[in-house]
Amino acid sequence: MKKIFLLDTTLRDGAQGAGISFSLQDKLKIAKALDGFGIAYIEGGWPGSNPKDELFFKEAKKMLLKNSKLVGFGSTRRKDSKAQNDKNLLAIVNSGVKTACIFGKSWRLHVSSALRTSPEENIRMISDSISFLRSKGIEVIYDAEHFFDGFKNDKEYAVATLAAAQKAGAVNLTLCETNGGMLPFEVQEIVRYVKREFGDFPLGIHAHNDSGCAVGNSLAAVKEGCSLVQGTINGFGERCGNANLCSIIPALQLRMGYSCVSEKNLVKLTELSRYVYEIANVVPNDKDSYVGLNAFAHKAGIHVSAVSRESRTYEHIRPSQIGNERRILISELSGKGNISSKSDLLYVDVEKNPESVSKIISAVKKMEQEGYQYEDADGSFSLLTNKALGKYKPFFELETLKLSVEKKSNGNIITESSIKLKVKGVQEHTVAEGDGPVNALDNALRKALQKFYPEIKDISLADFKVRAINTGAGTAAKVRVFIESKDHSSSWGTVGVSENIIEASWQALVDAIEYKLMKEQKNRKIK
Ligand SMILES: [Zn+2]
Repeated sequence: MKKIFLLDTTLRDGAQGAGISFSLQDKLKIAKALDGFGIAYIEGGWPGSNPKDELFFKEAKKMLLKNSKLVGFGSTRRKDSKAQNDKNLLAIVNSGVKTACIFGKSWRLHVSSALRTSPEENIRMISDSISFLRSKGIEVIYDAEHFFDGFKNDKEYAVATLAAAQKAGAVNLTLCETNGGMLPFEVQEIVRYVKREFGDFPLGIHAHNDSGCAVGNSLAAVKEGCSLVQGTINGFGERCGNANLCSIIPALQLRMGYSCVSEKNLVKLTELSRYVYEIANVVPNDKDSYVGLNAFAHKAGIHVSAVSRESRTYEHIRPSQIGNERRILISELSGKGNISSKSDLLYVDVEKNPESVSKIISAVKKMEQEGYQYEDADGSFSLLTNKALGKYKPFFELETLKLSVEKKSNGNIITESSIKLKVKGVQEHTVAEGDGPVNALDNALRKALQKFYPEIKDISLADFKVRAINTGAGTAAKVRVFIESKDHSSSWGTVGVSENIIEASWQALVDAIEYKLMKEQKNRKIK
């Protein structure tokens, strides 16, 4: 299997994405994860550009990476000056990296309008900078910025810049699709030309996603002979992002027969993607190919029944190959397969009671009409099935609920909730404050129930989402509240819908607690 080298630039190009800001600690954590995953090169930043990156290289050196080489990024020397006096190049040398990635211009337009220098001086800048770093014992990857646009404008010149880099001692010539507008067939044709010019000399690809083709362009370039692929985890990066390594790696490895990381590490790809999202504090894109939450989620009943018989009918790879998993969603589009796949949430054996399936499906359909959604609300779905089958027994009865919000002249807001309810025939009245109305409701409800059901101490609220929904013309807009709760062993979602946000939140809160109590009851029975 031919080896493809990966250069991850999440910490440099990825950090240039809107809304992304890594602290020094974040960068170190990501570098450690990339090393553990087996990425060949980790581009850590520009040692010369800011103190944080400088500090990163200092700290990263202590980490003793097992699999990856740390790469310092920078540009070619300034025009009309000497490489050995160039501040940026010296910062790379002083950072202690063994590998540098240096970018230079391949497009005449950039040479004349951005650098404002002559084509000849640009070539000297490339060649001097690489020779200088080589003289300091540093391995150099040369990034030919705007290579594809440059090639279209003047291919002789663009190729001449590469030749200068090769002659000066670069170990790899990476063709950068900097503006991200190229399409795969254009990339393929241009890489083929360059490959003919440079024979076996190692080429790389660095693509941006402005035309939505960064992954396709990278794969096309590999097909034409590039052996180094640059990209970022989750496609983070400037504008529309960089080529997404989380899509490129499985495509290269599972579909094209190349090797980039070990099979043992490939199954950690989903985990790596989510870890980087978490550190970047970016909500994961559920539709991400391969690693997204929905990448193997099946909703339509026909798909579900087919995929449970034969996964290849609607899955292009096995989700476990990259550490993701299949999800069967419950919705009005569900069939028997969707319902029976949720057997852990059901209190009925659907195989033995086929009529229960149609009861459950019609309950789901009715509730979806009202604006409920069960795709992420396993807890509410489980309760709904019991309600539909006449098996539901409430754990308490609400008598009254009051909520007050008071804003003081000093800006303080006091939120208080009082609840009267009956549990096992006993009346209970509690009052509790909270950081907001939902928190106050939650506190009062727990306070009232804890004495009867101590197991609810174990529940914590993990997420709370509100969404406005419009169920039809002529009616007031409704809101859907989604709550994610967790205990020591699992997490579950619950949903509430109403024109009143407090009522919607109450429904979701009550479901969250009742689901937990039902689960504990079931566990006790099993024991
Ligand atoms: Zn870039």
